[in-house]
Amino acid sequence: MSFVMHPVNRPAEGVPPVSQPAPAPQPTSASAPDPTRAAGDVTSRWQAVAHATGLQRADGTVGQTIFAEMTVLANRTGAINLGQGYPDVDGPDAIRELAVDAIRAGHNQYAPGDGIPALRTAIADHQRRRYGLTVDPDSEVLVTTGATEAIAVTLLALAGPGDEVVTLEPFYDSHAASIAMTGATHVTVPLRVDPADPGRGFRLDRAALRAAVGPRTRLILVNSPHNPTGTVLDDGELSAIAQAAREHDAIVVTDEVYEHLVFDDARHVPIASLPGMADRTVTISSAGKTFSFTGWKVGWLHGPAHLVTAIRTVKQFVTYSSGPPFQHAIAHALTDDSVPQRLAATLATRRDLLCEGLERAGFGVSVPRGTYFVVADGAPLGHEDGAELCRRLPELAGVVGVPVSAFCGRASDGGPSATARDLASRVRFTFVKREPVLREAVERLGALSV
Ligand code: GLN
Repeated sequence: MSFVMHPVNRPAEGVPPVSQPAPAPQPTSASAPDPTRAAGDVTSRWQAVAHATGLQRADGTVGQTIFAEMTVLANRTGAINLGQGYPDVDGPDAIRELAVDAIRAGHNQYAPGDGIPALRTAIADHQRRRYGLTVDPDSEVLVTTGATEAIAVTLLALAGPGDEVVTLEPFYDSHAASIAMTGATHVTVPLRVDPADPGRGFRLDRAALRAAVGPRTRLILVNSPHNPTGTVLDDGELSAIAQAAREHDAIVVTDEVYEHLVFDDARHVPIASLPGMADRTVTISSAGKTFSFTGWKVGWLHGPAHLVTAIRTVKQFVTYSSGPPFQHAIAHALTDDSVPQRLAATLATRRDLLCEGLERAGFGVSVPRGTYFVVADGAPLGHEDGAELCRRLPELAGVVGVPVSAFCGRASDGGPSATARDLASRVRFTFVKREPVLREAVERLGALSV
């Protein structure tokens, strides 16, 4: 398999690139001139990011991410924060101590740009042990500042104006932001609940996938286990994506940060392990979710050396490197799967607690097979607009969630996409909180049905 590499840094064409099939972003406010724009300048890239992520408000101001906004709302109102997905209990003390030891041992200056050798080796071993993937720690791995940086630099390195990047919809907000940064066009494939078989949860629309991937597709950005739906893509879905990528010579970028957090009989299969895919896949993961240290921002990517070389070229000028004490701690932690195994087991119990409570409260629930999140439907309770429900939820029930519409795109007329309309009444709640917190939350949510 040979690749024609596109030039890494394409010069911006005269016209402002707009990533979504939607009208060009407007200046944020008529009364407050944008200081980043020179007279006669074209639209700045940050506006494409704000537009792609729905952060430009009707009054002209610009918001922060939906997760930050919802955490601020929870803190202001004293509501239980089931919005932003972060654990309310840190990972194991023994792993924390490893980071402290590393600071004391003097690992406090720049780490190598690719990441410390011990962590790159631990990542390669983890991929071989769990998935049978052969990864060269020296030429095929980069340690990044969280998976978010890995996604951004991979997209910046590999896509540009004129390219199409396909994602699932709903999609994690940083995926849309990173696509907008590249100037590529964002094309989406919906995940849908089959009304005839709702128990299977949100599934890939394979016909839509075939229609979406074509000669302009540069990247297919996959996310499984999937935020926000909790879908774990099954073998048939992964094969369909792999086949589309091979047919159109597209690269797959896969965000697998919830790889350890799967429940019941679900199994996480990295798409890189499918036939012919290791050569065209960049696999991204991180320690944040696996070990409950989301603030440490230790992420990584691996893929074939020619793609890693392209990505390193960009990455070294973004963060260069970060967090050597945390890299040392995670290098040790990654050798032992028992910590994430225990986390997945307790999460399955907490998932059940929240899902049953949401059902009792009158929500429609799609039970997730992975991640920290459940998508609940407010429509049976008479709440057709999930965004409106989330704004009012602190006052109605003392709980905060995130509207699923925040994970959806825009139609060409600038209004909500078809998927956003389909999922308008859905709200994402996280269950990575202590059981007493979840019990209190479901009791409070019970107030919605009376
Ligand atoms: N991944 C977290 C979530 O989905 C949020 C991370 C962030 O706040 N950017 O809730």
